[in-house]
Amino acid sequence: MEVYYGSTRGNGRKVKASQAILKGLSEDGGLYVPDHIPVLDKSLKELSELDYRGTVYEIMKLFLTDFTEDELRSCIERAYDSKFDTEEIVPLAQTAGAYYLELFHGPTIAFKDMALSILPHLMTVSAKKNGVDNEIVILTATSGDTGKAALAGFAGVEGTRIIVFYPKNGVSPVQEKQMVTQKGSNTLVVGIHGNFDDAQTGVKKLFSDRELAEEMEKKGYQFSSANSINIGRLVPQICYYVYAYTRLLGEGRIAEGEIVNVAVPTGNFGNILAAYYAKNMGLPIGKLICASNENKVLYDFFRTGTYDRNREFVLTASPSMDILISSNLERLIYRIGGEDADRNRQLMAALGNQGKYEITEEMRASLEDFYGNYATESQTAAEIRRLYEECGYVIDTHTAVASAVYRKYREETGDGRQTIIASTASPFKFARSVMNAIGGKEDARGDFELIDELSALAGVEIPGAVEEIRTAPVLHDRQCRVEEMKDVVREFLQG
Ligand SMILES: *Cc1c(COP(=O)(O)O)cnc(C)c1O
Repeated sequence: MEVYYGSTRGNGRKVKASQAILKGLSEDGGLYVPDHIPVLDKSLKELSELDYRGTVYEIMKLFLTDFTEDELRSCIERAYDSKFDTEEIVPLAQTAGAYYLELFHGPTIAFKDMALSILPHLMTVSAKKNGVDNEIVILTATSGDTGKAALAGFAGVEGTRIIVFYPKNGVSPVQEKQMVTQKGSNTLVVGIHGNFDDAQTGVKKLFSDRELAEEMEKKGYQFSSANSINIGRLVPQICYYVYAYTRLLGEGRIAEGEIVNVAVPTGNFGNILAAYYAKNMGLPIGKLICASNENKVLYDFFRTGTYDRNREFVLTASPSMDILISSNLERLIYRIGGEDADRNRQLMAALGNQGKYEITEEMRASLEDFYGNYATESQTAAEIRRLYEECGYVIDTHTAVASAVYRKYREETGDGRQTIIASTASPFKFARSVMNAIGGKEDARGDFELIDELSALAGVEIPGAVEEIRTAPVLHDRQCRVEEMKDVVREFLQG
């Protein structure tokens, strides 16, 4: 059955998957959502016989129904190839307490690669399908990892340009170096004076700026988004949950139909929403464990039913989760609110105006699938140390937040089901924080010394993505204030 996409704030107008991918965000400011969530059309057993690419095809074909099989398979082939440093694409590491689904074997060593290595291909196919001749300009706000993954995905892709805004003082040194060394004449990287929410709000404003859109149209450009609000990012993220489950099944570690939990370190709510969609497709997932760092706005929301961003923004050692407005939550709110666009629009208006909204008791009852909690900075560091000392396995700070929250969940509920923890970044990307955690104190050495030490200690080779930036020259040094973002865009598109 064909799947169409409508806006969470819209008038009921529906578009095809390729059109939703091209646009990113709906004109009314809402997010595109499928009109129904398709159900898996193969048994878990059958799926367990497929490799990663095969599994991805089986999921994507159900959502992107206006793509042909050839189109999808060719996008998949081009995305999940030797850019990944393991044939398996997403290996599962087993430790005493849980399975860690390693989503960081792509070109930028964070899980954003899972979706951003395929999105440019989905987008160029979508442009062709819809007779779009304009050059597509990707505008992206990043809390650190999306930026580089999007740059790596779009650099050199014909018919596209990409502009990335990141918080100048809000990303790790490795993250920043990865971005500012990006090659490709169709790329621009800009540090803004503000935090991630400022960057994201600024980008959203640019998207809804009619005057700017007209000006761009005249010059042969149109904007699109590589942020996790794009349905073309959400769908590829569903695939690895299905794959993880069917792999465990294929290896006889679980029985067919056995319920497993999933724990996800959460910021913008994209990754965990993908797990929720997987569950709704029929994957036997029990609890969706939503793990926050000290920016625990989601934990408070699950606890109280009030989403309130009015609080201090904390800079943590898991910067990709330093977010107070979790954009993708809107898709869940819309769904549990009975897919009522008017009601959803009101809630989002309240979020825009008062910085908060409250959902009804009835809506709260639909949140049973979720368990929310958070880990403090010291709990996160302790979790890294514990896992290293007990298992010799080194995880990054984001994964550690999920791992620590999972342990809280287990202690609180006694639920001993098998659990898959989304491991979202390589520890090498956050080597300083990881080494500080393992050593139990601030380490004064340079970033690359720490990286070398981490490699020795974990017995893991330094990923190519890190080796590369050791000597790479800085190619982007542009900075701006939030109010100047529009001028920066105009300037880049002059040339
Ligand atoms: C983006 C990111 C997250 C948060 O994912 P969301 O989909 O925004 O919830 C967690 N960990 C890492 C390493 C990330 O890059």
